[in-house]
Amino acid sequence: VISAGNKSKPQRTLIGVVECPHCWHRSPITDLVWISEHSDLRGDPIAGASAALRFRPSRFTPGGAAIDLKGEPCQRVACPRCHLPLPPQLLECRPMIFSMIGVPSSGKSYFLAAMAWELRHRLAELFKVSVTDADPESNLLVNDYERTLFLHGDAQDWVYLDKTQTDGDLYDRVRLSDQNVSLPHPFLFTLRPLEGHPRFSKVKEFTRLLCFYDNAGEHFQPGTDKATSPATQHVARARVLFFLVGPSQDPRFRQRCKSISQDPQLNVSDGVERQETILTEALLRVRHHANLDPHQRIETPLILLVAKSDMWDGLIDEDIASDPYLPGSDGHPHLVDFERIARVSAQVRGLLREVMPELVAAAEDACAHVEYLPISALGGPPSARPIEGAREMLMVQPQAVHPRWVTVPLVYAFAKWSHGLFDPAQVESE
Ligand SMILES: [Zn+2]
Repeated sequence: VISAGNKSKPQRTLIGVVECPHCWHRSPITDLVWISEHSDLRGDPIAGASAALRFRPSRFTPGGAAIDLKGEPCQRVACPRCHLPLPPQLLECRPMIFSMIGVPSSGKSYFLAAMAWELRHRLAELFKVSVTDADPESNLLVNDYERTLFLHGDAQDWVYLDKTQTDGDLYDRVRLSDQNVSLPHPFLFTLRPLEGHPRFSKVKEFTRLLCFYDNAGEHFQPGTDKATSPATQHVARARVLFFLVGPSQDPRFRQRCKSISQDPQLNVSDGVERQETILTEALLRVRHHANLDPHQRIETPLILLVAKSDMWDGLIDEDIASDPYLPGSDGHPHLVDFERIARVSAQVRGLLREVMPELVAAAEDACAHVEYLPISALGGPPSARPIEGAREMLMVQPQAVHPRWVTVPLVYAFAKWSHGLFDPAQVESE
């Protein structure tokens, strides 16, 4: 552990070795490169022609900021290998890594938008935990989604998120060893206890960096032969794996829903996907990168997030609309209702075993800890609206968006596998 900063500033306690969340290179903190601030210093041989030049500093301001070649003080550091920016929080704590996998059009963009929005807006009130962007650049895409769904000028307008998510949105291109390489783009959030949180007095110790990867499902298509591609290595480093199950992507699940839901997504005939093949392939990557024995089960918890729960909540006998959070006593932060989550998980598992048994089998065969959570990014069905060319597009009105359980996967995972920020309502009998 080393310290930086001069005496006029509070000392920051830094960790000695930083692991880059883009390329997984581990480097001593003293080896990091800095990002130039002067507008003339454009073009970096590794980060690309439009990126600011990275440099190894030889001069510093009295406050400890590196001075670039044109004399500007700089604030931001980057990985010495891939030159992608590292959030300041990464120099102070190890990130909690979550990796999300799902077939194309399972609603990952909508979930990401609703989750980020609700994390920012509800956790402060409920749990006295603030959630902010850890780096101004890292969350541009999700900020854009949030603006469309939740901050639209006219709440009665019809909006949609562009689903043609390409590599460009989820991957950063850099040049390594004379090759163009796509590196996964992490969404980075800082979680910090606020006044009123039981651990507010130890705010530094309990501040967490959340590192969330959204994978393009195509990268897990069997036969793409990318087992060693850096694009998917983070699945082996994740603290928790999420697999987003798209109920309307499965004809059997659709059939079950048709008697209880008028959701137009049930009538879309394209978009049938073998979801268990994507899951199986993703879990093979985990095995491969973690060097597991073929017969060893994966210890990383796997949570199957069954999307669009408003469409199928009539098929189970639990309340999956209101969040499983219980008010704390005497104005203390809310508590996570593990007991209710366990009941819901068992019911969702039961439903999946009926409609998609091979998916449950694939998950439980490979992983030692599997749980099942219902989520709904929109809280209700979208509408088919006419667009140009006599076609229709599924759209929503921002005023009608009321997400359900979208903060639960992360809050639950933190409460269960990372001590301190969120507390369970009861001690587990494990
Ligand atoms: Zn890197």
